[in-house]
Order: sequence, then structure tokens, then C-alpha cells
Amino acid sequence: MSRIEAIVSCLDGYDPDALPVDKAREAIRACLTPVAEAERVALRDALGRVLAEDVVPAINVPAHDNSAMDGYAVRSADLRPDGEVVLREIGSALAGRPFKGEVGAGECVRIMTGGVLPPGTDTVVIQEVVRADGGRVTIPSGQKRAQNVRYAGEDLKAGIPVLRPGAPLRAAELGLMASLGLGEVSVKRRLRVAFFATGDELASIGAPLGEGEVYDSNRYTLHGMLARMGVQIDDLGVVRDDPALLEAAFRKAAASADVIVTTGGVSVGEADFVKPLTAKLGEVLFWKIAMRPGRPMAFGRIGDAILFGLPGNPVAVMVTFYQFVRGALLCLSGRSGDCELPLLEAAAAVPLRKVPGRTEYQRGVLFREGDAWQVRTTGQQGAGVLRSMSEANCFIVIEHARGGVAAGERVQVQLFEGLV
Ligand code: AMP
Ligand code: MG
Repeated sequence: MSRIEAIVSCLDGYDPDALPVDKAREAIRACLTPVAEAERVALRDALGRVLAEDVVPAINVPAHDNSAMDGYAVRSADLRPDGEVVLREIGSALAGRPFKGEVGAGECVRIMTGGVLPPGTDTVVIQEVVRADGGRVTIPSGQKRAQNVRYAGEDLKAGIPVLRPGAPLRAAELGLMASLGLGEVSVKRRLRVAFFATGDELASIGAPLGEGEVYDSNRYTLHGMLARMGVQIDDLGVVRDDPALLEAAFRKAAASADVIVTTGGVSVGEADFVKPLTAKLGEVLFWKIAMRPGRPMAFGRIGDAILFGLPGNPVAVMVTFYQFVRGALLCLSGRSGDCELPLLEAAAAVPLRKVPGRTEYQRGVLFREGDAWQVRTTGQQGAGVLRSMSEANCFIVIEHARGGVAAGERVQVQLFEGLV
């Protein structure tokens, strides 16, 4: 038995002809080995990459105790709980221009947000509540010791690791590393993903559409989905349904890529033709997944590359990509933690048709009515209606065992847009 088959056939409930989505995901995950190689890049270039080292601050952030407000730095021992006090202003501490000297009893210093707290002081009184008159500053009662002070190291502490290998580097992490003065960072190398579309009926954009042909849209959808994931992409074009051409394409892809993604050629009749070919080049399993859309899918290995043979239907390509390929690419790229899209809940605004025994990914529009989030479908849900993906802002994920959903029932949704 092949290696991949040996791994997946050990999983409980593994049935290639009726594979629940969770099982397919588990089977895929069991076969993935994340990239190990790393490279050093300039901080800006690390956006969207995966961290390959520990980030341990060499300094505290902030480096000094400082003021969170514009006002006066005072000694709390000088203040009175039951009445005002008058202090003498002896200088100023601006952001980047510390006060040089010590603040003694009865004295205070004008301070601005970010200004270093002068030695001797421990509290900041906001300017709005004081009366300042020719160097005499009147502080009202009711101040709390240590108020409006930001302490050294309260954001990041020297010596305490703040990011671990596997962390995704987003806007916040770039800023965080910049706050430590780091100009370069070690990241996992980018994944290389080669992809092609298969089908004799496919015409390329720019050419006239022949009789019985369709324009190859999947390659553009795939381009978009892969480009957004920050992987290095290699578009190998359209490959006709011809064993020699397909073999050449698979060999070319496997020679340089970590992952190969194809569309078409995995539905029942077609798989019979692709199966012997892929068996010759590696080990590939042909699955019927209990999902809609996206039932047929191939998964395996060609040479050292992982293969995802996605269905040909345009919506099925996107659904299988987001449910299986996306998470696998994140895992392969070395991302730690949960790589799946979060599931949120909303109320079904309309009844939803569904049969038990498969997971459905209906295209939905999540909208707010009053204070409740509701979701409706985009209408026509055929696997070929790509417009449904364009009109949708979420998938409505209806679980395997569930039947039809009545209006008002809670359903799960996966949002298309994320904040960071
Ligand atoms: P297949 O999985 O190859 O049997 O294809 C299923 C359906 O998807 C057929 O209607 C194909 O014409 C269509 N299809 C396959 N590949 C593409 C593609 N690259 N772009 C647009 N439609 C496609
Ligand atoms: Mg085809």
C-alpha cells in the first residue's frame, strides 16, 4: 500500500467514497510536513509571512516610565486627599526631551504624553484639572497615586519571548517588531504552488469562443485565491485532456512546486482517465466528499509535491479551495495554531433547503437588521453559478447531519472578509 493510503486508511471513519468534510481535512492534515527552510528579510517584506525564529525583546517597550496624558508630573507624597496643594513648576518633560534633574518635595514638572516621568515623580495630573499661574500649579484633591503613568516594559518586557516560530506576521507584528528596533526578521520560505486547468472545452481569454467551449475562469479564480495567500505562484495554463500532455504538466509542476493545484478531470468518468496517470507519477487518492458543492476531489502526492485535484465546476473550485487547500497551505507554510476559517452564527432570514448526510456551503449574504445579524442565500446555488460567490459575503455552512433549516434558526457562517 502507498504511504499516503497507509496514513489515511488508519483514520476512523475513512471512506473514500463518502468522506465527511472533517475526515477529509483530517486525512489531508495527517499527510502534510511544513516547510523547514527560512530566510532573512527586511521587516516590511515580512508582511504575510510566517515567523521562523523566537522574537525575544532586548529592550523594554516602552523603555521608560512615561506619561499617558498631557499635564503635570508630581510626587504623590505631596498631594492631599482632603484639599488642594500648590506646587512649584521647575521645568518640562516633552516626548523625546526628558527633564534633566530631580524633582523634590513641593515641586512638579510640566509633562506631555510620552514624556519620560522625571525622577522623584510617580503620578501625572491632567492639565484640565489644574490651575497654573506663573510657575505655581494648584492641584485639586482626589488624585490617585500612579494615575496616567505608563510603565517601562508594560507592552514588551526585555527577555520575555513575545512571538514564537509559526506566528503569522500581520500589521500588528510588523509594528511590534519595529517597536523593538528590529530591521530584519527570519521567516519561513514562501510556498511554491503550481496550478493548471484541464479540459478540452476550455478556451483562453482573448481568443474567440468556439462551439461548445467555455472560457477558462478557474485559473483566474485560483490565481486570485493563491495570490491573496502570499504564496509563490506558477500558472501552467490550460492542459488538454490528453495523457501525454497531462503527464508533462504534472512532471513540470512537481519538479519545482511544493503544492500542485489542478481543476477538472476528477469527476467520475474523467478520474478513470487521470487515475492511471497519477498512479504512475506518485500516489493520488480519488475522493467523493460528502459536501456540496465540491463532491469529487483528488488528493495525494506527485513526486515531492502535494496534489489537490479540485473539481471543475467554478463554485466547487472555490469551496474546496477554502475548505481544504487554504488550511493546508497555511499548515505547510509553517503557521502554528488553528488554520481553519472561524465559524460564526447568525439567524437564517429565509428557510434553507438541505438534505442530511453532507455538509453544504451555500453562498450567503450576512446583513444586520435591528440588533441581529441575519443571513440569506444569494439565490441560485448551482455549482456552476460563479455569480453566487461574487454576490455573497459569506458561506452558510450547514452541518453534515442537519436537514432543512427553518427561517429564524441559527446557522453557521464563514465570513469572506477579515480585518487583519
Ligand atoms: P469537470 O470537473 O472537468 O468534469 O468539469 C465540470 C464542469 O466545470 C464542466 O461544466 C466544465 O466545463 C467546467 N469547468 C471545468 N474546468 C473549468 C475551468 N477551468 N473554467 C471554467 N469552467 C470549467
Ligand atoms: Mg473536464
